[in-house]
Formats: sequence, C-alpha cells, structure tokens
Amino acid sequence: MVDEPSTSGDRAHESSRTIDLARALVANQFFLVYQPMIDLRTNAFAGVEALIRWRHPERGVIGPSEFLADLESTGQIVSVGRWALATACHQGAEWHARGYRFRVSVNISFEQLRRDEFVDDVAVALASSRLDPDDLVLEISRSSLAERNFSRLRSLGVHVAIDDFRPDIVSLDEIEILPVDVIKLDRSFIANLTETKGAPALVHSMVSFARKRGIQVIASGIEDAGQLRSLQLEEVSAGQGFIFSEPHEAADIDRLLRDFSIFSGRPL
Ligand code: C2E
Ligand code: MG
Repeated sequence: MVDEPSTSGDRAHESSRTIDLARALVANQFFLVYQPMIDLRTNAFAGVEALIRWRHPERGVIGPSEFLADLESTGQIVSVGRWALATACHQGAEWHARGYRFRVSVNISFEQLRRDEFVDDVAVALASSRLDPDDLVLEISRSSLAERNFSRLRSLGVHVAIDDFRPDIVSLDEIEILPVDVIKLDRSFIANLTETKGAPALVHSMVSFARKRGIQVIASGIEDAGQLRSLQLEEVSAGQGFIFSEPHEAADIDRLLRDFSIFSGRPL
C-alpha cells in the first residue's frame, strides 16, 4: 500500500524535527534558565527551578511548550533530560561552592523516569557535580509516582516533588499516601485562587494535612499581590511566580543573589 501524500509529508516533517532536536543537543542550543523560589514567610531566597530553553538558529529562543512533546515522543528526552539534570547539578554545586546554599529543582518526564538507566543518570550527575543529594529536588507528575524506579531514586537521598498538583481535583486522602517531600500547587489553580469560592480554605487544609506528614507545599505561578496574600494567610511556605521573578540565566541569578538582602542559605 502506498502512503497517502499527507502521511508521508507528516513523516518527513516529523523526521526533520527529530534531526533538528538531535542537532540542537550536539550544537549546544539548549540552555537552562532558573526561576527563584521565595520563602513566603521571610521573603528569603529558597531555591530555583531549572527550566529548559532552545536557542533555535532561525526562530530565536523558544520554550518547552514548543518542543517538549517531540522530545518525549521521539525518546530524545532521555539524552536531553540527562544533559539538563547534569547541567542543573553542576550549576547548583557552583552556587554552593560560592557559599550559597539552596535547593535546585529539575523537571523529569515520565519517559525518563521509566527507564532503568535513569537512577544511574541521577547518581552520576550527583557524583560528578558533587552536589549534595539533599539539595536536589526532582519534579515529577502524579502519574509517574507508580514507577518502580521511584523507590530506588529516593534511596539516593534526593527529594521528590509532585508537580502541577490541584487540590480541587485530587482528594486530601491521597496526600496521605504520597511518597513525596514537596507538593507544588498548579499554576492554573493559583491563577483562580482568589476568585474561586472555597479555594483558599482548600489550600489551608491541604497545608496542615501535608505539614503533619512532613511535606512542604510550594505555590507556582504567583502573579499578583492578592494571590500572594491569600497563600501567606493559608500558611503556604514557599512560592515562585512572575510577582517575584521570571526565570533567568545563571549569571542573572547571580546578580539577583548579590542584591538579596535576606538570604536563607546555610553557609557551607
Ligand atoms: P512547570 O514545571 O510547571 O514549570 C513552571 C512553568 O510556569 C514554567 O514554564 C515557568 O516559566 C512558568 N511560570 C512560572 N511562573 C509563572 C507565572 O507567574 N505566570 C506564568 N504565566 N507562568 C509562570 P516553562 O518554562 O515554559 O515550562 C513549561 C513546562 O515544561 C514546565 O512546567 C515543565 O513541566 C516542562 N519543563 C521545563 N523544563 C524542563 C526540563 O528540563 N525537562 C522536562 N522533562 N520538562 C521540563
Ligand atoms: Mg516544575
């Protein structure tokens, strides 16, 4: 059977995207930006989340919404994710060597986590960068929790955060059995926090429920003072969002750190 023209066209397009992405890694076109996380009680610097960007030769800098799905569907996320993890660990170790001490969070796709070699990738990234495992947080989605690599990962001493968590969808009982150290409240939930009846109260019960189990709650995507005030009232301990800072390259984070009057890091 002969392929329909549109199908072969799609395939050609798909394979050219695959080649583009493979070339991007070799040509050093990927880079990481870091978004500060702030302690909502003290305003101190509490950590950073590493986020990938692609400096595309024709299109300029593009974000993961434009290429992450392709990386995942082609399996290229394994090598690109390994690079991102190693780069973030080295950057974290460099900040720590200069006396700053805060956690670095790295996003991990299900495609990475499900592979046997993933735990080795994490161990190698830690060993080669000399980053303390206690200072690395892996952000994963709820569906990744069932992966068998999960417990091997925890035995390395790194922390695990569940990303994009919506307390209006997931029941509080589930938190009871979540084997994670951090819960990150989803940006879309925070966006409607002050307009949705009952949402702040939901956050409040979630925070006290999580606290009893030693889980930290972090809000993402905080954009305005109303959301911030509400999260502070409900005792959410940390947050990130454009109200504090957009993601920046490491050199700009350095500048920000220098300007930070209160800094939560423990000196080494
Ligand atoms: P995420 O882990 O939920 O990351 C937060 C996203 O929200 C980031 O988008 C960040 O730039 C954006 N953001 C932060 N604060 C605000 C705010 O106040 N308002 C708005 N409108 N947006 C805000 P970004 O960088 O485009 O990343 C999108 C997603 O791509 C991430 O969502 C994460 O799931 C994934 N991702 C990013 N980097 C990596 C990576 O290195 N590996 C993997 N596997 N996934 C990654
Ligand atoms: Mg994340």
